[in-house]
Amino acid sequence: MNSHIDPRLHHEAFQRALALGRGTDSGALSELTRRLQMPSAEIRRLAASATGKLASFGADATVAVQALSPIALRDPHPQTQQYALKAIKCYGPAGRAYLHDLDDLAANERAKDYVRRAAHSAAEAIREAVRLEQEGAKHKCVRCGREATAEEYRRSQQAFQRTFCDACFDEVFLDRRNSDTRVELNKTIAAKAGALVQSEGERLIADWLTTHNLAFRYDERYRILSGHAVRPDFYLPELDLYIEYWGMDTADYKIGMLKKQQLYQQEGKRLVSLYPADKARLDAILRVKLELFGYRISTRTSPASASDSESVSHDVP
Ligand SMILES: [Zn+2]
Repeated sequence: MNSHIDPRLHHEAFQRALALGRGTDSGALSELTRRLQMPSAEIRRLAASATGKLASFGADATVAVQALSPIALRDPHPQTQQYALKAIKCYGPAGRAYLHDLDDLAANERAKDYVRRAAHSAAEAIREAVRLEQEGAKHKCVRCGREATAEEYRRSQQAFQRTFCDACFDEVFLDRRNSDTRVELNKTIAAKAGALVQSEGERLIADWLTTHNLAFRYDERYRILSGHAVRPDFYLPELDLYIEYWGMDTADYKIGMLKKQQLYQQEGKRLVSLYPADKARLDAILRVKLELFGYRISTRTSPASASDSESVSHDVP
């Protein structure tokens, strides 16, 4: 696929589209509309997703929906189509001109099921947004009853298709992320130190830390940073360092992952990222990554014992 495109240019365009997806500048919309017309389905998909995100940052809804609609309705690549449909949905009433087309797509038996569902969901959201706009309705938080601001309304509708004030949004978001995580990984695993972790990768990390006498806190609490849920998997208080295990492999998850890694960086936190591919060579990889922060894990084998006695030393820079 895309064999006629110079791989280096494609890579650059891909990275650029990813970066735009992490951005919050509604001025990026004009660049994104150009990328929505590129020959690579992958780049159109990322550009569509990024365009949807800019809805929360005040991007021009009419321009965005116009650029997204051909992709949403007719893109030859169904996954790209699905992303554009999700993105259109973020712009609410601005999609009203395409309601009939969306209904047709939702009813089209030749389209992929997930595309039809996305079209249906977009049409429903647009209808509801139009209805609310027409009513000039005041939006009340469905949880606490407080009147929600327009921004709170848009943000919570986008995430939950329901209205929440910011305080309730955060709580509901946490509940949902916790339950999503449980569904996705569907396990609770006891590590050596007694911590209950949520995946095999996390268990290996917990056990490695225990073996190397590194105190850690395994924390299930989320914090919301600029609207993103960040749950540090491991915090090592002696080293003031975080370890995150990025265990999933979906495009959405990866986009979220890059955003979170950026948040750590912005907050000046020291982060070691580990991935499923690292599991087989966890010991070597953790040693190298900790050394980058100036921590050397030494292994001293006692002649009297088969077991290793290990310690961590901090090289003062
Ligand atoms: Zn509320």
